[in-house]
Amino acid sequence: MPAPVVFIGHGNPMNAIEDTPFTRSLTQLSQRLEKPKAILVISAHWLSSSCEVSLHESDDALMYDMYGFPDPLYEVEYPAPNANFLYERLQGLFVGIKVRDRALDHGTWSVLKYLFKDADVPVMQFAIGSSLTMQEHFELGKKLRVLRQEGVMIIGSGNVTHSLLSINWDREGSIVAWAQEFHDFVHVALQEKRFDALINIRQHPYTSKAHPSIEHFIPLLYSAGALFEDEEAEFFYEKIEHGSLSMLSWISKRSD
Ligand code: ZN
Repeated sequence: MPAPVVFIGHGNPMNAIEDTPFTRSLTQLSQRLEKPKAILVISAHWLSSSCEVSLHESDDALMYDMYGFPDPLYEVEYPAPNANFLYERLQGLFVGIKVRDRALDHGTWSVLKYLFKDADVPVMQFAIGSSLTMQEHFELGKKLRVLRQEGVMIIGSGNVTHSLLSINWDREGSIVAWAQEFHDFVHVALQEKRFDALINIRQHPYTSKAHPSIEHFIPLLYSAGALFEDEEAEFFYEKIEHGSLSMLSWISKRSD
């Protein structure tokens, strides 16, 4: 069995420290996960002009890359070891890959904190190349499949909808129509494995509303690309929170 690929809608940074239905779904998922050899994360919070991997130092190497939140969020610790041993393997897979010494961003630690709470699995981040096309992101995701066979879990961390302009700070706020429609569209496309619909998401009439900037959608392309032909997405959290923030999250499973 290959290590799983997941996509997580990480949502509000406060999820890192709050007990919510979403964070409980991550804890529940964690009980099903075998410990992988390493974890490679594609986070919406690392855009780069090239294809890079991060090599963070282990202790205290977290980036608190969110502003104006309560103090306890800036006190979260997640001292996971780095996964530098993957570097050579990644060099073989991706020509010209660069290395950057960089701490883990909150797109990574806010979810790993629940999935592997003991911080005992080596972690590496893979940057989103900002000049790549949607098709190219998907193809890079496909290339990551081989790592899953070698025991490396792949995590895409973003959101299916992400518009800070439309956030309702009430988590249970009523859902705006375009967010529901966009969420449903992506949900069905994933269910039916119509990945072209995801690659061509800019053709959807609500994409500019759902993603004033597209970086939170891109990790989904990596996770979808990393699915094998005989697998599909099993959704483990499907809510829209804060009125317009789709938290749709899934893990790979073998198709029946
Ligand atoms: Zn985010």
